[in-house]
Order: sequence, then structure tokens, then C-alpha cells
Amino acid sequence: MPYLNIAIDGPAGAGKSTIAKAIARELGILYLDTGAMYRALALGALRAGIDPNDVARVLPLLETTDIFARCIDGVQHTYLNGEDVSDLIRTPEISKGASDISVFPAVRIKLADTQRKVAQGNDVVMDGREIGTYVIPQTPNKFYVTASVEERARRRLAELRARGQYQDVTLEAMQSEITARDHTDSTREFAPLMQAPDAILIDTTDMDIPTAVQAVLAQLKR
Ligand code: C5P
Repeated sequence: MPYLNIAIDGPAGAGKSTIAKAIARELGILYLDTGAMYRALALGALRAGIDPNDVARVLPLLETTDIFARCIDGVQHTYLNGEDVSDLIRTPEISKGASDISVFPAVRIKLADTQRKVAQGNDVVMDGREIGTYVIPQTPNKFYVTASVEERARRRLAELRARGQYQDVTLEAMQSEITARDHTDSTREFAPLMQAPDAILIDTTDMDIPTAVQAVLAQLKR
């Protein structure tokens, strides 16, 4: 029997990861946060003094970098060359670096390959930008989760502040950061952020997380 693969795509701050984690918990299946893998690679570049936009230096780095994720007690741990970097990749610098580095096709091909291997051997819910359009387009379970940019900025800021970050950042600045990231993600040439034609749209602007989770669960095809 084929594995249950659920693709949840959408822009930053739409609630994808919260929804995906709740679904994984509800169904007792794996959750894979693919953004964390791009973040780990960006961290690897920055540590090596490489600008994530510098393709000439990113490509050789890619060949010598190993990135994988593992779920321990329902929590994802993301590894950069064997080191658990899960707590180091949630900074504004890494968010931007991940968005920059994810433009390069070779980066996407390598990380998508790792993600596909997870999907081929497990029931899994994955969240990202192009899971339904590029990583596992054959799955019948595709969702596109979005919300207004104002609402996404508000949520992202609350989340980061709760972690002690972004204390001095205004809502307007957060909104510009999110808008810039949306632009980079949706205008890149290779596997951009977009809704798959057969993905179910879930707009969480005025919807709470439990309702969104129920909306996904109610439409799953086995
Ligand atoms: O989801 P998260 O905000 O952690 O992702 C960080 C960045 O990684 C995104 O802005 C996007 O540029 C990139 N990304 C991607 N494809 C994915 C997941 C994330 O390009 N599947």
C-alpha cells in the first residue's frame, strides 16, 4: 500500500507548520519541516563565510554538506554535517539566508531528493513551498495554506517575541520582511512558491488552527 503523503505549502507565517504538526500528531505520522533544511544549509554557508547569494561558492559547499532531519519524540531535529542545529536556525539572518540560498536549482534538487526519500518510505506530512508542485506532485493530498500579509506578520512577530527575539522590530518592518520573502519565494525560476492546480486552498486569516486542521483532515484521501 502506498504511504500517506500530505503536502502543505504556502507563504511564511500562514500557519503551515502549526497545522502540519497537529495533523502529524492526530494521525500518528511523521512531520517534516522542509524549511529547516534550507535554514541549516544557510547556516552552513554563513559559518563558512559564504554569502548565500554567491552561487559560485554555494555550489561547492553543497557537495560537502550533509543535511538531514529526524523526528525525536514528535519534535524535528535538523542536522548540519551531523550537528543538531535546530535551535540555531530561527534567526532573522538565517530566514533571509534560507530564502536566498533556496533560489539555486542545485540546492533544491539535493534537498528535494532527501525529502522524497522520506515520503517514499513513510506516512508523512511535509510543509514547505513547493511540496505539492515539485517534491511529491503525485500525492492527492495537497493543501495551500495562506493568510493576509498583515495577519502573517502579526503572528510571526508574536511567535518570535515569545522566543525572546525581534523585541525591537515593528509590525511594519516584519511586514516588509515577509513581503520580501514572499517575493523571492514566488518569483524564483525553479520550483517557486505557488498553489498547485489541484491543491485545496485554506485561508487562515480569520480561521483558528483547530478549524484549519479539521478542514485538512476532512478532505484527506487515503
Ligand atoms: O518555512 P521557513 O520559513 O522555515 O523557510 C525558510 C525559507 O526556506 C523560505 O523563505 C523559502 O525561501 C525556503 N524554503 C523553500 N522551500 C521549501 C521550504 C523552505 O524554498 N520547501
